Amino acid sequence: MGDRPVLYIEDNFHNRRLVRKILASRGFEVLEAEDGLSGLAMLRALRPPLVLLDIGLPDIDGLEVVARIRADAELRATPVIAITASAMRGDRERFLERGCDDYLSKPLQALELIALVERHYPVDPAPGAEA
Ligand code: MN
Repeated sequence: MGDRPVLYIEDNFHNRRLVRKILASRGFEVLEAEDGLSGLAMLRALRPPLVLLDIGLPDIDGLEVVARIRADAELRATPVIAITASAMRGDRERFLERGCDDYLSKPLQALELIALVERHYPVDPAPGAEA
């Protein structure tokens, strides 16, 4: 993995390509999963420190993915940002209530995406700092 890996769980190729390009410009490496179960497997195997999550996925939906992340002692601290076309009143609150740390609606705005990822990306402690 590169210096700043991010996992994006998204079934739509065009969205994955867009997010990959936007985040690569800021030094992030986007690891891509096309469905919920392979996303969870990738998260367990590679432990990227941030997850971008589509809600409409072909197998389990994104809310089930975030539920499984929050139920797993080793994964539960991972920040999750939901990215979805669903922009109905109350969606943001619903996603946050169900365990997402933040929410971004499609169509994606590059600067908004970058700002959210930077805000939630865990900062490594300085070398020698107490954990
Ligand atoms: Mn989708």
